[in-house]
Amino acid sequence: MILHLNPSVTEARAAEIATGMNAFSIKKNDIHVLITGASMKNVPSEYENEVSESWAFDNDIQLASKKYQSAKREVKIGDVTIGGDTNNTILIGGPCSVESEEQIRQSAELLKEMGLTSLRGGCYKPRTSPYSFQGMGLDGLKLLAKMREEYGLSVVTEARDATHIDQIIEYSDVVQVGAKAMYDQGILRACAKSDRTVLIKRGFGTTLKEFVQAAEFVLSGGNDQVILCERGLRTFETNTRFTLDLCGVAWLQEHVNLPVILDPSHAMGLAFGVTPLAKACAAMGIDGLLIETHPNPKVAKSDAAQQLDHAQFKDMLKQVNPVAAAVGYKIV
Ligand code: PEP
Ligand code: MN
Repeated sequence: MILHLNPSVTEARAAEIATGMNAFSIKKNDIHVLITGASMKNVPSEYENEVSESWAFDNDIQLASKKYQSAKREVKIGDVTIGGDTNNTILIGGPCSVESEEQIRQSAELLKEMGLTSLRGGCYKPRTSPYSFQGMGLDGLKLLAKMREEYGLSVVTEARDATHIDQIIEYSDVVQVGAKAMYDQGILRACAKSDRTVLIKRGFGTTLKEFVQAAEFVLSGGNDQVILCERGLRTFETNTRFTLDLCGVAWLQEHVNLPVILDPSHAMGLAFGVTPLAKACAAMGIDGLLIETHPNPKVAKSDAAQQLDHAQFKDMLKQVNPVAAAVGYKIV
């Protein structure tokens, strides 16, 4: 249940009520907002006079629910705003992993040349095998920070686990919580306490409810800058890496007030499918696309098969632009 307290309720009293109800307490436009589990259906009578509005829910999708806030939330990625009624589709590009200064600089230059604003690159990679390239760690984060400085790009990078979350928060504009990391409560709770934008990728065996509940961890901790990212589910199919759940995206767009971005690169796992899928995604009127590109995909240290080379990336944008425009969105 979500409760808005009367504006006259003091900080101290709000804290007292929150303790009494065992509720989370956050602030929204100077109003104290309390959140309990969805099992609570009525405002306790002893607090009735101090509550201005309340919402009861069927399940723990609460702050993210359109039943609470029907308008899509606005979220910042560097200087760009998505969500709200911006109709912006941000195109976040860059390699799977930061591999060297030369490589990440080439990516930064490509984005700059194309008028794009947001650079991705993993430094702590959540690899399935311990023998695969694990990422450059802190050295990679420093390279991303250098690219931000030199090219004025925002930086999106992933946290693999809670051991280095403080580093990621320090160096990134957007903390990416990966498909395998979205259940990591250490990461989610640290993100909740930070002021960084948080991009949560859906686990490949995760229900929509579990996915949005991961976002509730961040929202209920007081950070409202949360984006959801659909990146494909594991199905019986083996010819493609995963299966992109556009049905799930339609469901989120109907029921959830968070911006939704799509990642056709990881879904398809093969470069030839990324552009057609990106067009299909853009046709849904989405808040963003996350697409991997590498100066020389053949030698990429992770996800080599799915990364677009720079010519393919430019061609992809050329093809996606008119699709986004046809549904009233603009690629930024
Ligand atoms: C990535 O973005 O490079 C990545 C590892 O993604 P995911 O968590 O979706 O597998
Ligand atoms: Mn990748």
